Amino acid sequence: MPNLARLAARGEVGRAAVIPPGMAPGSDVGNMSILGYDPARFHTGRAPIEAAALGLRLPPDRVAYRCNLSTVGDDGTMIDFAGGHPSTEDATEVIRALDAALGSGVGADIEFHPGVQYRHILVAPADWADASCTPPHDLSDKPAVWPTGAAASKLQAVMEASREIVGSFGLQANQVWLWGQGFQPQMPSFEAQTGCRAALVTAVDLIRGLGVLTDIERVEVPGATGWFDTDYEGKRDAALRALQDGTDLFLIHVEATDEAGHAGNLDEKIKALEAWDRRILADLVAGLDDMGPWRLLLLPDHPTPVELKTHTTDSVPYLLVDSAVDGPGGTYTEPATATCTDVPGHDLMAKLVQRTG
Ligand SMILES: [Zn+2]
Repeated sequence: MPNLARLAARGEVGRAAVIPPGMAPGSDVGNMSILGYDPARFHTGRAPIEAAALGLRLPPDRVAYRCNLSTVGDDGTMIDFAGGHPSTEDATEVIRALDAALGSGVGADIEFHPGVQYRHILVAPADWADASCTPPHDLSDKPAVWPTGAAASKLQAVMEASREIVGSFGLQANQVWLWGQGFQPQMPSFEAQTGCRAALVTAVDLIRGLGVLTDIERVEVPGATGWFDTDYEGKRDAALRALQDGTDLFLIHVEATDEAGHAGNLDEKIKALEAWDRRILADLVAGLDDMGPWRLLLLPDHPTPVELKTHTTDSVPYLLVDSAVDGPGGTYTEPATATCTDVPGHDLMAKLVQRTG
């Protein structure tokens, strides 16, 4: 990764704690940190961020749940948290039928909102929030752990009633699984927080949702897939175009490295990292140089080690480069930053956008 190595040699490398102690190492938490918002203060759950990505604004007396189309065996085993990956088109029909039978369609005070593929949203009254739910992807091939707590019986009733409706569509999915609930977080806009007008590109709903909640413009790149085949150059060019048009800050998000980690696929992980270097950084830096002084912050939202195939809470290496100021220089790798003192991840944004001189 020669471009990254050159940037690291002229910048500042260190380690950032993007996942606050005691919080789950999800992309929602990590990216909130990266945008400069302390998750310990602002994070209320995963579902309200995804609800925001769907354009749902929740009043204070409504709670959002993630509603997976999932496959649960008759013996109670979580066979597939993603319900055999239904198409968005098929899934939308199922979610509409659920709303017609169990939700607003029959005057109930819950609403089903279709999202993407197996990922949907249930909105319910505030008192439905009082439950402890297990993310279905943590239950793969294990006995499904049903919700507990004061609202558990209501959630369980919906999940059980959904079996007849979901099952009638002949998909692999046979019921909904509710989890990740929260009220809409009250986040000040990014511009109010930093004085910068920002935009972002991503293929991931959670990050789009964070953009909605903080009034960061979402730029769509058709080839952005959230997968190994994503359009790296398209994302890079979207960034350069936006910055040229007067946007102060642009966030490029690439999911491929994380997916390679989940798949335990070392080759794809290396390819994705090298693609960052060759297909984004090289011409990004050249383009930025043409525009005048710039700063760049580069870091992952959490580790996803190939060996573990899941996220960990470990701190991550970060790189901060100022085109006009030589930094101490360093090497951007986990081992090279292993002895650095962790800085809170949400403090880095202030450093990136600080006014100097
Ligand atoms: Zn992941």
